[in-house]
Amino acid sequence: MPDSSGFPTTRLRRLRYLPQVRQLVRSTRLAPSDLIYPLFVKAGGRGREEIASMPGQFQLSLEELDREMTELAGLGLGGVILFGLPAAKDATGSDALSDQGIVQQALAVTKRAAPGMLAISDVCFCEYTSHGHCGLLHEHHGQTDVDNDATLELLGRQAVSHARAGADMIAPSGMMDGMVGSIRRALDAAGFTQTPIMSYAAKYASAFYGPFRDAADSAPQFGDRRSYQMDPASDPGQALREVELDLAEGADLIMVKPALAYLDILRSVRDRFPGVPLAAYNVSGEYSMVKAAAARGWIDERATALESLVAMRRAGASAILTYWAKDAARWLA
Ligand SMILES: [Zn+2]
Repeated sequence: MPDSSGFPTTRLRRLRYLPQVRQLVRSTRLAPSDLIYPLFVKAGGRGREEIASMPGQFQLSLEELDREMTELAGLGLGGVILFGLPAAKDATGSDALSDQGIVQQALAVTKRAAPGMLAISDVCFCEYTSHGHCGLLHEHHGQTDVDNDATLELLGRQAVSHARAGADMIAPSGMMDGMVGSIRRALDAAGFTQTPIMSYAAKYASAFYGPFRDAADSAPQFGDRRSYQMDPASDPGQALREVELDLAEGADLIMVKPALAYLDILRSVRDRFPGVPLAAYNVSGEYSMVKAAAARGWIDERATALESLVAMRRAGASAILTYWAKDAARWLA
């Protein structure tokens, strides 16, 4: 007699017995076209310099970027996102606004070497400012803080400069209130009405960014980013408010960052905004932890990476920014 659970009539293991059946009933797909590869380009850099805390990732000179893009062109990736390391930093991050800036030059190289590859540019100031914060500073009630509204105008100028240099998509990451609207207005006024904005909408002040700061040389020189990035313990509804506001300001794609410790946020955003393209940023710390464990033989890098990426897709991400993009494209081929 079957008991109340349906056993033995119902045996879910039947769906797992044959690999062909497992394959048939799978619903989460992972393809190279879902993946976006972050690249670090260094002004005056010599060749490719491996980032100590991110084995397998490099700071590239413009010449090396050219070679890298040629290699990436055939992998079927969803795109690349570029981060610039300028030759000199100052209080206002002026390299970010210059048409001869490092990221502007990198965009030109990217589009020349791989014209078919989606080139996304990260728009922020932390890689370009001497103080390492994401915008202009001011004194506010006795506390040094990023001047939100003064930064907005500069973000618009930076985005237009990137678009002029060849960026197919603009990705503002600074978590300034109103950044998406300001960038949208600036792009439209400059004629870039068809350039989409992928907003880092729900970006948390996370310890998982540690290795990135080596990669992009962007650690804050004092304080931290908790006055603009989100508190990990804040109500998940606050992430939904961030997303809602960015969409109202004209964001075309939305991002949640980091990914692995924030799968609940990804799922909430996916459920609340079902039609919105949703990206997850599989950040440096998530990558480096696996790399470090794999180097000791404690974990299988490939299996762990692919399982993590599948989990992000299952939680609702339509695209994933990941340092494994290049390896994963080969693993999935
Ligand atoms: Zn920033």
